[in-house]
Amino acid sequence: MAEHRPKLRRLERLSRIKSVATPERGARMPAFLGSRPDVDPDRVLGRLQVILAGAGSVGGSCILSIARQDPRAIIIADPKPYKPESLLTNGVVFPRDLHRWKADHVAKCCAEVSRNTWVDAFAGGFEDLPLTRVADADFIFCCTDRISAELQVARAAMHLGIPVMYCNVEGSSGLYQIRYFANSDPQDACPACNMTPAELGMAADDGPGFSCETVGEEDRAGREEPVTRSIPALCGLAGHMGALLMNKVVLRLGQPLPNSCMVEGTFIRPEYAAVIPLDRNKGCIEDHSRWRRRPLAKPLRGHAIRELLEASGINSDGGDAVLGLGDGFRYVVRGECPRCGPRPIERFWSKRRNRRCRCGAELRTNAFHTLDAVPLSVLRPQLDRRVAALGATSASWALIRHHGAGTWLSWKDAEGGDGS
Ligand SMILES: [Zn+2]
Ligand SMILES: [Zn+2]
Repeated sequence: MAEHRPKLRRLERLSRIKSVATPERGARMPAFLGSRPDVDPDRVLGRLQVILAGAGSVGGSCILSIARQDPRAIIIADPKPYKPESLLTNGVVFPRDLHRWKADHVAKCCAEVSRNTWVDAFAGGFEDLPLTRVADADFIFCCTDRISAELQVARAAMHLGIPVMYCNVEGSSGLYQIRYFANSDPQDACPACNMTPAELGMAADDGPGFSCETVGEEDRAGREEPVTRSIPALCGLAGHMGALLMNKVVLRLGQPLPNSCMVEGTFIRPEYAAVIPLDRNKGCIEDHSRWRRRPLAKPLRGHAIRELLEASGINSDGGDAVLGLGDGFRYVVRGECPRCGPRPIERFWSKRRNRRCRCGAELRTNAFHTLDAVPLSVLRPQLDRRVAALGATSASWALIRHHGAGTWLSWKDAEGGDGS
């Protein structure tokens, strides 16, 4: 099977809109309880950019509901296609949709029900979305039961300071769970703060969590994959509850929503419903730091390393600073040819590309000589070279860490903009 390389794809705005009545965004908008005079829902929604990670039965319901509110932009990421069983739980899936990518299908549905929304589909994992696009989001939904994916979302959202909502279900008890992290204060909790060692173990194994009923099932590549059992009403309920609460957050209705886990077990008697505060666990191993964002005026590749240091407020002697580049680039100190032996590289190489020696053999790298973040001491002879000259022509962002603080320097091309 050929390798699937996901691309972020913007759906064309359907010209069908012109031929049908186009309702105003606010035509059915109630005067919300707890609304503020300084917050205009129409204006807020008109600027709102939302990302959905996981476009299954929960995420599909959630984002379709939000699409009807006509936000400015939606990005939908999901690495999987539908299978026949998707008909059993997904409210937006019909037999004709089977085997399509979930991201593509849900994005198309969103484009169809919204009037002005820019919708992008990404048939890949959230972690492979361009971070410069993630950074534009005002709100992220994570509706996957994979703990590893939850942590990927959590890390990006924490560093960039974007609110995240996780919507999950547990089928047998009719239980839905909404966890919310405002990410307004780096001292706050992250999802890993409240995970049990078993759940953190699942993250390492890439297994599903928050589901006690998993059975093995083969995916299209023939590998065994776990599935979560539930019924469509519960999945839709969790997704809609997430969408509802997002309105409370972005329209600032009433008291701010605290970092919390809301849980309700429909089939549990006596009735079980609770709001559990999510507090920071001082022993959490996740990096909770907030990056300072610094937009670049021109493409990253045109900047010398020294300019990047200056842009992040560090002089070139900046002691223990380290530099990392985005979009899959790593700094390779040394490579090894099986025929010619070791040779210095001292450039950024993409993880996605294999390199060959002059003799034609494939160059190998090893973990000791491949750095995700390069100490300034290693880069010092190259400070005046441009990022492009160091091999990272297509990198769109850089992260400089110094004394525990991170500065995120990014540049976004027109394609990554608002499409205008
Ligand atoms: Zn944490
Ligand atoms: Zn060689």
